[in-house]
Amino acid sequence: MNSRTLAFNNMGLDPKNSANGPLRVWSFMLTFAFRNNSIGAFAPSPILLSMQIDILWLRKWFDTFNQQYFDGGLPTPRFHIGHSRTQLGTLSYKRKRGLMRTSLYDFALGMSNYYDQSEHQFQSVLLHEMIHLSIAASGLTDTAPHGVVFRGMMSRLNREGWHIHVTTSTRGMQKAFTGSERVIGQYLVLAIELADGRHFLSSVSPRHARALNERVRQASEVRQAAWYTTTDPWFADMPKVRSLRGRRVSAEVFANKTARMKPIAF
Ligand SMILES: [Zn+2]
Repeated sequence: MNSRTLAFNNMGLDPKNSANGPLRVWSFMLTFAFRNNSIGAFAPSPILLSMQIDILWLRKWFDTFNQQYFDGGLPTPRFHIGHSRTQLGTLSYKRKRGLMRTSLYDFALGMSNYYDQSEHQFQSVLLHEMIHLSIAASGLTDTAPHGVVFRGMMSRLNREGWHIHVTTSTRGMQKAFTGSERVIGQYLVLAIELADGRHFLSSVSPRHARALNERVRQASEVRQAAWYTTTDPWFADMPKVRSLRGRRVSAEVFANKTARMKPIAF
């Protein structure tokens, strides 16, 4: 038996991709920054475009895409979230050589929170890795790591509106802010429910809380907003934001977390 781990990296420095990839998203973000000068009227979803993901998000979208695009046929891998600077997503597995055929097993799918990205960007990275998983699990042999089979599936999904690339430029992306505040372990939390029913939790930089509070009051998309303090280590690896960004959570997680935090008023 011969066993080794292979990894496909969703990484790269291909400047060709930047024209229709990350730059467009960042132009939306800049648009939002100038919203109070009323330049930003055309941003499709002007707030909370940029985010971090967690395991719940990863599981949820894996299951959704598995049903939607792969007939539910993909094996569920182990999930992990890391902070790689050069690999936005990875798929790894082991290879077992039997008498008749080689089989692949122990799939693991990883995503990186090193950069804040829009949900659409995270989803496209996830789909990239799911294409690798689909090919590997089916036992197909592609012509190359991103060969004919891969590119065919990628094109099909991109026609549905995704932006999957063979490589993704990380130039111009913003590193998620994690500072030395981590050791203090006291977090200022902004909890937001949007008019469309989505929930977000943000760990806010205290110095920017007042300005952010003003912005929240003016945002018509916000149904409810509340401030809390907490020492919950769940927030330890979240960036302390200076703008309206946060981690999207389910209604249950939202209710659960806010019930244990100390409310504060401005
Ligand atoms: Zn790849």
